[in-house]
Parts: sequence; C-alpha cells; structure tokens
Amino acid sequence: MISGGKVKVPPELLAFLTQKDDFFIATHINPEGDALGSSFALSIALESLGKKTVVYDRDPVPDFYRFLPGHERLINTLADIQPQAFNLLLLDCNTPDRAGIENKIFKSSAVIDHHETEKEFGDVKWVEPYAAATGMMIFYLMKALGRTITKEIAINLYAALAIDTGTFRYANTTADVLRVASELVEAGARPSLVSNALYEKWSEERFRLLIMSLNTLEIKGNVAFTAVTNEMFQRTGTSAEDTENFSGFPRMMQNIVVSAFFRQITDNDWKVSLRSKGDVNVAQIAALFGGGGHKNAAGFKIKGTLETAKEKLLHHITGAK
Ligand code: 5GP
Ligand code: MN
Repeated sequence: MISGGKVKVPPELLAFLTQKDDFFIATHINPEGDALGSSFALSIALESLGKKTVVYDRDPVPDFYRFLPGHERLINTLADIQPQAFNLLLLDCNTPDRAGIENKIFKSSAVIDHHETEKEFGDVKWVEPYAAATGMMIFYLMKALGRTITKEIAINLYAALAIDTGTFRYANTTADVLRVASELVEAGARPSLVSNALYEKWSEERFRLLIMSLNTLEIKGNVAFTAVTNEMFQRTGTSAEDTENFSGFPRMMQNIVVSAFFRQITDNDWKVSLRSKGDVNVAQIAALFGGGGHKNAAGFKIKGTLETAKEKLLHHITGAK
C-alpha cells in the first residue's frame, strides 16, 4: 500500500521473484515509456540476480524509445518460446489480453500495475492505483530486493516516471515521485537527455501526422475530439505508435476538460484515447466501453463510424459529469 509516501512490496511478490528462475516479462500492447522502462529495468535487475528473463510485447519498441538501455531485449514473437516454461510477470497492465497473450499458459503469474481498473488475474497481485507509474513500483521493488540502481536501470525508470507524470506536471507528481526521480538522477539518469529523446526527436512524418490530427479538431462544450485515419497514416508514412499522446494536445486549451482522440484501426474500428483535467474520471468512462486506465488518462476500443462512435462517447461523458 502507498500511504504517506510509504510503499510496501508484498512479501509474496518478493518470494515469487527470489524463488523462481525463469521470467516472462510482458506488458501492454502499443507500449509507452512506463511499460517499456519498467520492463527493461526489471529484466536487467533480475538478470543481475542470475535469473533468466524474456521481455515480450506484441508490438515493437517505437523508434523514439530506442534510447532506453536494454530495449533490444524486447521480442515480438513467441515462435521460439514455450510459455509454460516461464513465470509470467505482467507489468503496467493487469490482464493477459491487454498484453496480447490471452491464450498462453504460464507456470505461474504475478501482476505489477498501477491502473485503477483492476481485474482478478494473477497468482500474485501487486496493484497500486496511487503509484504515479509502474516504474515507481519497480524502483521500490529493487530496493526491497537489495539491487543497486545502475545507470541503465535509472534511465529506464526515470523515463517511466517522466512519461506517466507528463514529465512531472500531472497531479500524480508527488513529493515521493520527485524524491525517486532525484535518486534516479543521482544514479545516472540525465533529465535533459531523456527529455530530448522523448520530446525533441520526432520524425517529420510524425509531426505532419500531428498537424493533420489537430486539423480534425471539433469542440462540443468542454470536450475536444480529434482523429487520425488510416488514410492519414498512409499519406504521412506513419503508424499507430506515432500517435502516442496526441490526445494530450487539445487538453492545452483552457476550456477543454476532456480530450478524446480517435485512431482508426480498421474501417469501423477505433481506438480511443481519453485525457481529462481535474476531477473528471475518464477511467470510469473508458470502463463503460470495456477499456480502462487512470483518472486523467484512459482508453478503449469502439466499433462504428467515427461520427457514431463520437456521439456514443459524448453521451457517456455528458452523463458522467
Ligand atoms: P492511451 O490512451 O495512451 O493508449 O492510454 C492511456 C491509459 O489508459 C494508459 O494507462 C493505458 O494503459 C490505458 N488504456 C488505454 N487503452 C486501454 C484499454 O483498451 N483497456 C485498458 N484496460 N486500459 C487502456
Ligand atoms: Mn503506467
């Protein structure tokens, strides 16, 4: 539990990690900095304890995350892997379907996550909705395991914290987050280098896609809608990973309380990214559509035309406020 800034790593998780030898670290599809940084940091730390780890994601590491030390460990295929020989460590999500491994059988499983839409999966579960990032939990886990925070680990965990706190701007930026960040900087993470890698290394194609997305802006009351279609991906030569946090931009407007960004998957299939300000809980709205997330950042998938999908969502947002 996190209370008064104190984190207690469950003893059963420590036993799980120290007693077992082979770990399959998996995180959510379309991974971002917290998912990736937490996975690489934990893989590096467990291997320093003599354990075997595999890091898996259905999707590849986006180009702009390839500065993360250990990113080359991530595999996207299970062709050479026998899941039943591994103990699953599910990070930054809490159901196998979010990680694209719903039909796989593992020896046993543990969940380390900070999403408030918690599910039942996992032999061992450690879910801390008050933790700003899964990376915070991994930091405390390393302390509990007596691991040194190496420079490689520090860069991964700092990037995890940076992504999930909007680089220390969102309401989840607590004194504890800043203390941990400070320790990570002491251990070798350079804030300017991480920020440069995250925010100043966009491809021109990605930037052009952002322009197109912002040009779709539609405002209804205090809700902003933007969208990216498959045609835009084709015209710019970009893909889904390039849209990470596009939903955050319309939230810059003073009167906008919810920003809803629609990314086309197939003709009638959309991924929606919600961002909100203050007390509007978009995790609850996403849960109504079978998705989830955090109070101010959540997502779900929806079928229909863009117009009908927007209307359904607007209906629920207006109902929730
Ligand atoms: P994003 O909108 O950037 O994809 O995700 C924002 C937050 O919501 C992240 O914490 C992400 O893990 C969560 N999220 C996004 N899509 C889904 C979804 O379909 N299901 C669940 N459970 N969480 C999601
Ligand atoms: Mn996270």
